[in-house]
Amino acid sequence: MSSFTPNGLIVAHHGISVEVFFENSQRRMVRVKRNSGHVVGDNVTVTGEVLKRLPRRTELQRRDARGGIHLVAANLDVLGIVVAPQSPGGFIDRAIVAARSAKLLPFLVVNKCDLDGTAELLAEMNRVYGRSLPIFAISAKKQSGLDRLVKFLSEGHRGAFVGTTGVGKSSLLNALCPNIDLKVGSVSDYKSMGRHTTTVSTLHALSGGGELVDTPGFRDFGLVDISIEELAEFFPGFEDHQEAPCKFRNCRHHSEPGCAVLSLVEQGRIPLERYDTYMEILGEVEKLRAAARSKEWKN
Ligand code: GDP
Ligand code: ZN
Repeated sequence: MSSFTPNGLIVAHHGISVEVFFENSQRRMVRVKRNSGHVVGDNVTVTGEVLKRLPRRTELQRRDARGGIHLVAANLDVLGIVVAPQSPGGFIDRAIVAARSAKLLPFLVVNKCDLDGTAELLAEMNRVYGRSLPIFAISAKKQSGLDRLVKFLSEGHRGAFVGTTGVGKSSLLNALCPNIDLKVGSVSDYKSMGRHTTTVSTLHALSGGGELVDTPGFRDFGLVDISIEELAEFFPGFEDHQEAPCKFRNCRHHSEPGCAVLSLVEQGRIPLERYDTYMEILGEVEKLRAAARSKEWKN
């Protein structure tokens, strides 16, 4: 054996070991410390038993049920936000902002298009988000509409899906990666595995190109909270604002002088619905931040 250390990619994380896929197509398990910080999608070199992580292009984080922040995956390019009829509102805008602030390109997947009620949802998504991000109308159950999505992912993208429980993320992953075999519609499964069972994160190469990362805890709990600054910068519908900056760099687009967003709303270039929704979420984020501040004070 030579001393050459090939570059590898972490394709599975089992808590105390990771599976590394090397450029020469070999695979190997490497032991890691439980809090090593390595995640699926990390580029690494392995010399003997020593794993060295290479710099990351992007990082995606999640918050667990107790408020702890975890890294989900490294070097993702895209984040698929999955929605279906009856999925709660307010989630999409936050997910888009979180994706953009992590330097991922968000896209929207409207699932369950085989159901009658989905046409309305799809029309609304196209109306509200059509200019902001790619939208895919699919049925994971009927396996329809997947071609466009497969083609999009094949263009060299590495992605993951988020969405509230029941929108069909497991079904979609099963449809896109036939050998992944996830349980569908069993919300309690994750809990019944016990709190100390390590959930395995995996990276799947799609046969047509592109890759998908699956992290069960991420699917269930979702993204980290967004900050006021991120909300103001990345809100979907405010894209024209990139070419027309506000007078103040930290503008919240509330009532500040020289606010470009406010004047774009006046000109009709930002729909009033977008602005009202932004103000609503801004209010919530500000409230959360104030609560967190006063908690810090008391401690
Ligand atoms: P997850 O919680 O987001 O992973 O959602 P699941 O994949 O577990 O699906 C939740 C429920 O929705 C299950 O009963 C699925 O059979 C159903 N489902 C998933 N995709 C579709 C679809 O395209 N059409 C219909 N009608 N039902 C679906
Ligand atoms: Zn402004």
